[in-house]
Amino acid sequence: MHELSLIEALIEELEKQNELNKWGKVLKVNLKVGAMRQVIPEVMTFAFEVSTEGTFLDGAKLELDIVPIKWRCKACGNEWDEERATNGGLCEKCGSIDVELLSGMELEIESLEVEDTDVTES
Ligand SMILES: [Zn+2]
Repeated sequence: MHELSLIEALIEELEKQNELNKWGKVLKVNLKVGAMRQVIPEVMTFAFEVSTEGTFLDGAKLELDIVPIKWRCKACGNEWDEERATNGGLCEKCGSIDVELLSGMELEIESLEVEDTDVTES
C-alpha cells in the first residue's frame, strides 16, 4: 500500500514538528497532495487513522487537497495540464521533450487545527 508509506513519512514529519511546537492535541491536518502521486483519498485517510492510533495525532482528521498536474515546456514556455497532455508527454506546441513538472508532486502539510488555536491560517 503506497499510501501507507506517504502517511508514515507525514506522521514522522508531524512528530518532529510537534516536539518543537508543542501543539498538544491535533484536530485536523490539511494536506496538499499532487495528483501525480496517484493516491486514493479513502485509502489515505484510512491509513492515517490506523497509523495515528496511540500517537499524539490519535483522533485527528486528515483532509486532502489534490493538486492537479501541470507541465511546462522549457523550450517555448508553453504550459498545460494533464487533461490536455495529448502528445505523449511532449510539448504540444513545439514537440520538445524538455518539459518540467510544475505541480502534481506535492506532499505538503498545508495547515493544522489544534485544540486551542489555529497554528496557521488557512
Ligand atoms: Zn514547447
